[in-house]
Amino acid sequence: MSALAPDVLVIGAGPSGSVVAALLVQRGYSVLVLEKQHFPRFSIGESLLAYSAQLLQEAGLLDAVLAAGFQFKNGATFVCDEQYEEFNFSNKTTAGLGFTFQVLRSEFDHLLAKEAERLGATVRYGVEITAMTPGEQPTVTARTEAGEVEIYRPRFVLDASGFGRTLARLLELEKPSDFPVRAARFAHVQDNIVAGVFDRQKIRIGINPTDRDVWSWVIPFPNGVSSVGIVATREHLAKYTGTPEEQYWAIMADEPKLRTLLGNAHTVRPVGEIVGYAANVKTLHGPGFALLGNAAEFLDPVFSSGVTIALHSAKLAAIALDRQLRGEAVDWQHEFAEPLMFGVETFRTFVTGWYDRSLQDVIFFPSKEPTIHRMICSVLAGYAWDPANPYNGPQSGRRLRALAGMCRDGTASKVGASGLT
Ligand SMILES: Cc1cc2nc3c(=O)[nH]c(=O)nc-3n(C[C@H](O)[C@H](O)[C@H](O)COP(=O)(O)OP(=O)(O)OC[C@H]3O[C@@H](n4cnc5c(N)ncnc54)[C@H](O)[C@@H]3O)c2cc1C
Repeated sequence: MSALAPDVLVIGAGPSGSVVAALLVQRGYSVLVLEKQHFPRFSIGESLLAYSAQLLQEAGLLDAVLAAGFQFKNGATFVCDEQYEEFNFSNKTTAGLGFTFQVLRSEFDHLLAKEAERLGATVRYGVEITAMTPGEQPTVTARTEAGEVEIYRPRFVLDASGFGRTLARLLELEKPSDFPVRAARFAHVQDNIVAGVFDRQKIRIGINPTDRDVWSWVIPFPNGVSSVGIVATREHLAKYTGTPEEQYWAIMADEPKLRTLLGNAHTVRPVGEIVGYAANVKTLHGPGFALLGNAAEFLDPVFSSGVTIALHSAKLAAIALDRQLRGEAVDWQHEFAEPLMFGVETFRTFVTGWYDRSLQDVIFFPSKEPTIHRMICSVLAGYAWDPANPYNGPQSGRRLRALAGMCRDGTASKVGASGLT
């Protein structure tokens, strides 16, 4: 390869960028990853799903992640006042790994980028993509921190720039999300949670019992620190006054069980905020390029699906691009966008159901038929692309609404999985 004409240029070294780079170099392609920041750097998105671990294994990256000693994660708990439900990822219907990790993304993303380099990719930091002309051989313009302009002529460009949304902005592909604007406030806290009262191997999702639209996450790390965040509408957050830190603790105190759990906690990282994180695009691909992970679409953090969708998009793109670079005709809509959207639609159904309460009713229904519980568990573990699970794909909305109805009238304990049509 010439330095300025790699086979593949990847924009961004987040999880989707590093994993797609690792997959492609292992297929023999020259891959250049250009990342505008310097690593390690903070990123939100610290709780992974089991399918992420499966995808890391398939990419040859799991051993390095295991060796790094991240917090082991095996499921999720949901709490709303006296209601409590637990999902153990191993209790799922879809085959695949049943565990994953809770990670400081500064460390996790850096590790994946270094692994991609170890496998043969070139990763350059402090280089920002500023322009791109699509085409059979796209032209990419980058700017270094010293202000130098570099022109690249790769065979294909993969945009893995996450919330940077580089090609969506540059090529005017942005499309508003259907979800209302919500905001997340978050920090890392020394949690001082009493040993034994809390399962540190699971993410805790808490719901404000007086406003079930407002929810919190607690994502424990191994060193007594947890990531704690609250998600609510902007209107809800506007009711709180004081410094960002005072507001943060006041919002949290409105969820009594969370207030008790974190009664002795204090922040070790300043409170951050992300407003209006939901995003969409008109297309996931075009001449000489495709969009991965959050560079394409982001739904909502409630089911920790972001990194999993990012990694699955990397997997699908690597398969399609491998074929294209070998000279085969690839239909990117049929081979990349549609298969990816199958699982994104699953998560869209679950996010919609979370905020219209139907999924909350399903989650807290005490005696769900066991197979149905396991199917819901599969989705929560990230296995959203398994066509054998009736709660996956375009039919998931209809089926979830029907299930919620059965939970409300109490019949969901009787219907068998075979009753789902
Ligand atoms: C409040 C909140 C909570 C979340 N919690 C979770 C969670 O618990 N679990 C989960 O899985 N997901 C979560 N997410 C989503 C998660 O953060 C993202 O889905 C995930 O980081 C996407 O990975 P990515 O590889 O697509 O992009 P990113 O991780 O965003 O990486 C993109 C990289 O591209 C670089 N970049 C951007 N623009 C350019 C450019 N022009 N040139 C060069 N480089 C560029 C950036 O510096 C960055 O390093 C959450 C999101 C939000 C908003």
